[in-house]
Amino acid sequence: MPWIVGFSGGKDSTVVAHLVFEHLLSLPRSERKRTVHIVANDTLVESPLVIGHIKAVLDEMRRAASAFGLPVVVATTAPDVDQTFWVNLIGRGYPSPNRSFRWCTDRMKIQPTSQYIKQEANSSGSVILLLGVRRTESAARAASASRYDNGERLNRHNDLPNCLVFRPILELTTEDVWEFLGREAPPWGGTHSRLIKLYRDAGGGECPVVTAKADTPSCGTSSSRFGCWTCTVVDKDRSLSGFVEAGFEEFTPLLDFRDWLVSIRNDPERRLARRRDGRFTITQAGVHIPGPFTRATRSEILARLLALQEKVGHELISGSEVERIRSLWAEDALSEANRATTIQ
Ligand code: SF4
Repeated sequence: MPWIVGFSGGKDSTVVAHLVFEHLLSLPRSERKRTVHIVANDTLVESPLVIGHIKAVLDEMRRAASAFGLPVVVATTAPDVDQTFWVNLIGRGYPSPNRSFRWCTDRMKIQPTSQYIKQEANSSGSVILLLGVRRTESAARAASASRYDNGERLNRHNDLPNCLVFRPILELTTEDVWEFLGREAPPWGGTHSRLIKLYRDAGGGECPVVTAKADTPSCGTSSSRFGCWTCTVVDKDRSLSGFVEAGFEEFTPLLDFRDWLVSIRNDPERRLARRRDGRFTITQAGVHIPGPFTRATRSEILARLLALQEKVGHELISGSEVERIRSLWAEDALSEANRATTIQ
């Protein structure tokens, strides 16, 4: 039965990956029979420094695994092009996610990781998922941790069949984690100092690996400083602002763009009256719930994003996302025309 380590690049999942690597190294080659997958998810809108760190660590792990002959598969998952942040926001006009309409976590985090786990569970019969969950990380984490408290070391995953969950650092404190990372060099080479610096610069918490909807409260919270740079679920961005305060002023335009997305979200001029399915929604209290962003606003967001991309000099949206956005616009125009013909 393979192991799958959910790796977010944050301190907790780094400790788990570190311990697993060390354990594999301690075994004679003949006993290294179990394949270990180290799986990171890239939402494609990760904070630039964080994704840079994750990619660098994954490369180091890959090199070390091959040099030491470890049965380790290092993989990155990502949302389907049809379900990325930009395709939903600009293509379908979904209003930027907030606490009551958080459409992003499932599409950008849970689905890609779950798909990987399901594939492995299907081909191997079952898998063990190792998560760097710690009870003392936060109240939300304590609540999500208690869902699996059945007195056993392995627990069935609530949503994923044939997936057992193992939480090896559940009872470690934050101090334990920092002490470990400060003391021990990673078995894949180098030091953990880049990670420690990242936390110092970002100023705090992390966005964890999310594999179930019940875990989403811990994604996009005010302490999630390792979250997406576009995150509008938090009132005030913590990830980029922490880096900007630490001297990474090149991220200021990204921060401004994210703040602009927040500012236009509830502007009635920028939203269609009807939802995408044509419904006109009024709540029982008589409040009108507007539909998606208008086509003009979607075009403006895309134009501003492309200009920002040009300015910062690295990819913020891919060519295939732009292509999918344009095809969604064309599909929308067609269904609007069809609706208009039906009404006449
Ligand atoms: S960090 Fe924010 S934008 Fe990213 S998936 Fe979580 S809630 Fe959504």
